Amino acid sequence: MAELIGIDEARRRVLAEVWDPTVEDVPLGRALGRVLAEDVMSREAVPPFDTSAMDGFAVATTAGGELRITGESRAGRPSPVDVATGTAVAISTGAAIPAGTVAVVPVERTVRFADSVRVEEVPENANVRRAGEDVRAGRAVMSAGRELGPAAIGVLAAVGLAEARCARRPRVSLAATGDELVEPGRALAPGCIWSSNPLALAGQISRAGGDLVSSQTVPDEPGATRAALERALASAEVICVSGGVSVGAHDHVKGALEELEVAQRFWGVALQPGKPTWFGVAERPGGRALVFGLPGNPVSAMVTFHLFARPALRALQGADPQPRSASAVLGAPLRRNPRREQAVRCTLDAREDGWHAVPTGPQGSHVMTSMLGAEALAMVPSGHGELPAGERVRIELLEGAV
Ligand code: AMP
Ligand code: MG
Repeated sequence: MAELIGIDEARRRVLAEVWDPTVEDVPLGRALGRVLAEDVMSREAVPPFDTSAMDGFAVATTAGGELRITGESRAGRPSPVDVATGTAVAISTGAAIPAGTVAVVPVERTVRFADSVRVEEVPENANVRRAGEDVRAGRAVMSAGRELGPAAIGVLAAVGLAEARCARRPRVSLAATGDELVEPGRALAPGCIWSSNPLALAGQISRAGGDLVSSQTVPDEPGATRAALERALASAEVICVSGGVSVGAHDHVKGALEELEVAQRFWGVALQPGKPTWFGVAERPGGRALVFGLPGNPVSAMVTFHLFARPALRALQGADPQPRSASAVLGAPLRRNPRREQAVRCTLDAREDGWHAVPTGPQGSHVMTSMLGAEALAMVPSGHGELPAGERVRIELLEGAV
């Protein structure tokens, strides 16, 4: 590890390597979490015609009085008759406003007789929703790069689309290295631990829009590591490896990547946790691949995925790769690291003076439970001594990580 680079510089080097997304049409029912690949215009107005906001009577005058009922307009079944002076048309919420209507009198403000109705006075246009009040015909309703949540999918459906043109999800392959790793559910041999990184990272990959195509567990052996990474490179365009990327005698990831001609873009970030993070690029006949060598410690793996791999996955889908950042009041004192910026897992409290970031507890890179419930990373700059409680720190929201 020559010289450590800063987090922003590392992220810049990652984002310098991404390419434009390819696109595909996705049925709306399966588009949740996908990223829109083009601007969407609505051909039609929403609502498409003037509609009633209430159950009641469409009237041709605001004056009130007793009116003859000449017809009915129901949702989906417009009235064949218009409204004229002295008449009213019974109307339901969402039904088309008959021609001649000046206002709709809500049913609560009427008294109904056999074939007439007495209505109260109402202002002009009362309870009439005009065509296009929500979306005007020919207008853009959303832009490329938007992540489709439930509301966006609802809007696309409301303008009549059955599919959304989305960025294809980047194919991701995972490899967890370590002789000590045992699949959860199996018995532990002496000196072994249950492997948590593949499942935690799989969740983060999915939340970042990635399509996990393979997950391998690899012993700390050069040949096996190389073979596993070769398989990963054959099946995916983003590869995340956990562990084996440090300077130990049994860390073989960098050597294997070098043999596979994956060109290093950085190794070593001035970050705690996550110092040994490695990133490189493979140029293959089928296109480029991004390779992230994440430290094996479970918190380091998750934090570095969030800081470096997630932005890449988002950029590969045309979504904003920058983390959402804000400032918060630190809720507890923190010892600074003299050489590295710290990413402290915090919960967020909304107080009168804004957000307060409260560390989740002991922050060791092996303390997986420090990720539980964390809403943000408080980014504590390197330095000496303590950062006292009450200081303002920059926070990055941990969206999709917990
Ligand atoms: P390494 O980066 O390979 O030196 O691993 C650092 C630490 O992370 C060691 O204590 C490993 O046992 C642990 N570790 C590595 N991979 C995993 C994993 N998949 N799940 C849980 N812990 C792991
Ligand atoms: Mg290891």
